[in-house]
Amino acid sequence: MPKITNNPDRKSWIEVSSTSDFPIQNIPFGVFLTPDDIITIGTRIGDCAIDLGALHQLGYFEGIPLTDDIFLQDTLNDFISDGKKTWRLVRNRIGDIFDSENNKLRDNEAHRERILFHLSEVEMQLPVQIGDYTDFYSSKEHATNVGSMFRDPENALMPNWLHLPVAYHGRSSSIIPSGIPIHRPNGQTISPNAEFPVFGPSQRVDFELEMAFITTDANVLGEPISIDKAEDFIFGLVLFNDWSARDIQKWEYVPLGPFLAKNFASSISPWIVTLDALEPYRVATPDPVKPQLDYLQYQGDKSFDIQLEVAIQPENSEEKVVCKSNFKHMYWNMAQQLAHHTVNGCPVKSGDMMGSGTLSGKTSDSYGSMLELSWGGKNPIPMPDGTERTFINDNDTVVLRGFCNNGSSRIGFGEVSTKVLPAIKYQK
Ligand code: CA
Repeated sequence: MPKITNNPDRKSWIEVSSTSDFPIQNIPFGVFLTPDDIITIGTRIGDCAIDLGALHQLGYFEGIPLTDDIFLQDTLNDFISDGKKTWRLVRNRIGDIFDSENNKLRDNEAHRERILFHLSEVEMQLPVQIGDYTDFYSSKEHATNVGSMFRDPENALMPNWLHLPVAYHGRSSSIIPSGIPIHRPNGQTISPNAEFPVFGPSQRVDFELEMAFITTDANVLGEPISIDKAEDFIFGLVLFNDWSARDIQKWEYVPLGPFLAKNFASSISPWIVTLDALEPYRVATPDPVKPQLDYLQYQGDKSFDIQLEVAIQPENSEEKVVCKSNFKHMYWNMAQQLAHHTVNGCPVKSGDMMGSGTLSGKTSDSYGSMLELSWGGKNPIPMPDGTERTFINDNDTVVLRGFCNNGSSRIGFGEVSTKVLPAIKYQK
């Protein structure tokens, strides 16, 4: 176990502020472009981006079985395929190299110049090539709220919901990193009591506060992953904003579920935080309301205490935090999601991504979407510039943030920030 790497008392010779999401206890993985336009796999301590390709070339990973070009790539997929033992060896070694007691790199200016960049000098990329993307629906509060609005408050949860982690297969081609703006989607919608639908820009663009986990190669066709081993195949987590067009969704989703309302864009934070780094923040998931089938039963604490928030920033205005929630509210945990996903023999690969579903809490200020926060548009939310929001306006920027703090240490995910631009005019 990475006890030394997670030791809250450990300090780095790189300066880190006490409120940083990226102290030496985090050591996330990402991909960035250097000032010389070279793409590399990297990590981050404080505001310092660390080039793992250069570290490897200079011999700092000696003794760890890695191919020469493992970090000189534009995605983390091959490194993730190397498996948990290798991720752990590399993360532990990075902890050693940057420990305040270790002077090997600290005192080598020529090496430091090749390896270290200020974060403002690099351009973060999508960290993995996402092959398949699945979106779960695992917050009981969110499923209850949406069921109440779209169907019937008396029977908000479908009969299957308490027995299996409901999900659908999403689309990976539109997953983008933080900072890339999106356009309001066009599509079909229908007014209440209208006979025919109309076409045009969605009037109900919404965020979904989610987290997503990235897998390694887990199984071959036909073989399930047992729930007891499932976490070994999870590389780490990112913040995930699963953009949604509620008016398009309402018209199209029966009977096969979400389609164009969901696949126009989904944004992720660029640094993948490993399960090893999250270990000090492990907590229990909510108790099952109904008995669960044997293949979904688990031992131990399977969730993490990750504090989450969403802010909306209107153009030329201060931001407003509209939601504070927590990953630990999720009813179906990641091990259950992965065990269920593969119980029929569906193969999972390196770089696959699984969204949690919107992470709403019990209180009305912890709802993870504008659909719930404004209760279907009935309750507008005031903004600092005097305007109101029921959904997201053109030129608004939506920011998701997440961090863990157990009193003795803090790590986090940074943010995923996305601006919504006006719809592109459709021309036939
Ligand atoms: Ca979603």
